[in-house]
Amino acid sequence: MAFAAQFTTIGHIMSTVEIAVAGLANSSAPVQYPTASSRLLLDLLRLSRSTDGRNSSETSADALALDGVIPKPVLRSLLAALQLRDPNTVQHVRRTALFATGLARFLGWEGIPLRKLEIAALLHDIGKIGVPDHVLFKPGPLNPAEQELFSLQHHVGMDVLQACRVHQEVLDIINQSNPNYDNGVRNNTELNLSARILAIADAYDSLSNKQVYRDAKTHEEILAILGGSAGTRFDGNLVNVMNRWVQAEGLPFTQQLAEPQSAMNGSFLHLAEEMQASSMCHIFSYLYVLESMYDGFYLLDAELQFRIWNTGMERLLGRSAVRMLGQRWSSKQVEFADQNDQLMEDLKQPIQEVIKTGKPLTTQLKVKHLTGQWLNVEVMSVPLFDHNGSLQGIAEIFRDISTDRRRRREDKDLCQQATRDSLTGVANRGELERTLESMLAEFSRKPNAEPFSLIFLDVDHFKRINDTYLHLTGDEVLVGLAKLLQSETYSGELICRYGGEEFVVLCPATNLDQAYAKAERLRLALSEALLSSVKELKVTASFGVTQVESGDRIDDILRRADKALFASKDGGRNRTTPTTRNEFVNGSLDISRPKEVAKPPYVFEGSFWACITDDMVVLKFGSFVKEQQAKLIDAKHGKVVIRLGNTLLLPFWGSSPKRQPVELQIKFGPPPKHVQQTIKQGASERTYFEITITPRGWAHDVPTFQARARRAFLMLKSYFIAD
Ligand code: GH3
Ligand code: MG
Ligand code: MG
Repeated sequence: MAFAAQFTTIGHIMSTVEIAVAGLANSSAPVQYPTASSRLLLDLLRLSRSTDGRNSSETSADALALDGVIPKPVLRSLLAALQLRDPNTVQHVRRTALFATGLARFLGWEGIPLRKLEIAALLHDIGKIGVPDHVLFKPGPLNPAEQELFSLQHHVGMDVLQACRVHQEVLDIINQSNPNYDNGVRNNTELNLSARILAIADAYDSLSNKQVYRDAKTHEEILAILGGSAGTRFDGNLVNVMNRWVQAEGLPFTQQLAEPQSAMNGSFLHLAEEMQASSMCHIFSYLYVLESMYDGFYLLDAELQFRIWNTGMERLLGRSAVRMLGQRWSSKQVEFADQNDQLMEDLKQPIQEVIKTGKPLTTQLKVKHLTGQWLNVEVMSVPLFDHNGSLQGIAEIFRDISTDRRRRREDKDLCQQATRDSLTGVANRGELERTLESMLAEFSRKPNAEPFSLIFLDVDHFKRINDTYLHLTGDEVLVGLAKLLQSETYSGELICRYGGEEFVVLCPATNLDQAYAKAERLRLALSEALLSSVKELKVTASFGVTQVESGDRIDDILRRADKALFASKDGGRNRTTPTTRNEFVNGSLDISRPKEVAKPPYVFEGSFWACITDDMVVLKFGSFVKEQQAKLIDAKHGKVVIRLGNTLLLPFWGSSPKRQPVELQIKFGPPPKHVQQTIKQGASERTYFEITITPRGWAHDVPTFQARARRAFLMLKSYFIAD
């Protein structure tokens, strides 16, 4: 798109603004004509005015068609601008709207609430129009800095919707459905039901479509993901209803989206409309500049009524947009004092000055927060003239210049360096420990606190990847893995590089079962992913999972998860082991096996190889049997069967019906081909052991048996591997 190039350089646009403003400030002649920046603000003001009167006696079909939630022409031109900027997003918002309203209808909704939900869904991503190209069209997941830039789109969208006087309820729905609402820490039941529906519809649509770093998910996978965040990000009951609805009626969008751009009634993007859409795009990108460079702004019309009061202003002065919009500006609403703490007279206010002189003005002042606190700010007051030179409105743009704020900015930069891993951009170990500490404090403070869980993972045979494909490919794999972890988690998880090829995923409000399911999902996603430019390189990892328990310290949780991870390695890699404190203390970890090699539960299988001659094998078996007071059941060439019960290393085993002895069938011989390849050059005498362990008599239960068999296996292995 040719116009897109104009969006790319915010810095350029901004400097145009500042040069224009500075130039006007220096000139003595009254300003008669709009400057580049004031023209965009004026366009915004015009857009805002075009929505006036919709609540009056206007009876045009357009206005009625949308139940007074938003005038149809405004909705149309917003969507046309989005179509011009990013057609994929238009497809996404349309599918999301169909999904959300389909689900709401299934719940029995009709009339205006349904309409509001539909409009909210169609407009929830409208701010994307203002996002610069390098972020919006980046062919891969965003790094943390880009993510932060991207998240400004939400504010930009709200600014425009505010100006368009979109129904407040629609704004609330969009606001609350945003993943960052309340910093992601939310109690779902407090949210508007429409927002909860929209959050599910939005997530469902993005998960069911292919993204750069992952394939489209199936309905079942999406259910598991949304269900895994139930109670935090998504409403669990609604997820269940959604499932019933999809089962009963099927997904709503396959058919309706068949004809492209049907929402635009076929007449989409004639030249005039394209120009209109393009000028809308300019407004958005200018707002994006304001949102990214300044701390707050408001827009007044010719009657000095507030038309926009952005979230930055809400934060800066503690006054909500709902209260300010439609009010007339007065020195009571925005109280200024000069540098000597003298309250400013009405006539000396920057606005009055601008009205008098017609010139933009930049002033350093103090402004009062609702709580009575004074804040040092720099205010840029910009008069908005039309082409006839008549004043149509004023914008005041704020920058917080208090030392606090400056320090916060500097702190933020430092913090970025101190908390992020430089290779992958995910959190570093220090950040993990700090977060864990505060989550632990929270957990122990609240008696009914929801547990959180921790997933520890380590890439399998990473050294071999480095050795075979060079260190650079190894690095590429680590970066790809970090991105995969980020794009596969949706519920406020903290992804951390713990060191080398070890990562931790910290999962808030997640119990052990949910975390296990999450780890398995990550493990499978990883085994199918392409992480580097080497096409044939398949990467797997082993996982350990644990849940916080009362009295835990940071070390306890990390050690438990690490031990479970170690058990996964030992059990053959590419698998997940969950553990509780009890199992950890008793050393009885339940190693799950990869799905594709499900074994009967009362059989344990394992293998290893050792640098040892045949003669030594016989000798070692002899001493093992003796030391462990085991029973030799059968001995042939290459195959031995022994029975283990109550022994020195396994005290009390076999001493009660619950602790039946186990039988080990051991086959040994030269390693098979696939194992030979993994054995180091130079290790000449190699024997490969295949061990099958079954219980003798009645095995109490699967986990007990598996844990016992594993211990027997490890004991035997240590005999042959030890020097
Ligand atoms: P296992 O399956 O038992 O985990 O085997 P492994 O080879 O993955 O484990 P090991 O701990 O023996 O090897 C880890 C390797 O990771 C060793 C180290 O050279 C490599 N490594 C650590 N940090 C980096 C890094 O930043 N980049 C690259 N390319 N390699 C790294
Ligand atoms: Mg490793
Ligand atoms: Mg390692």
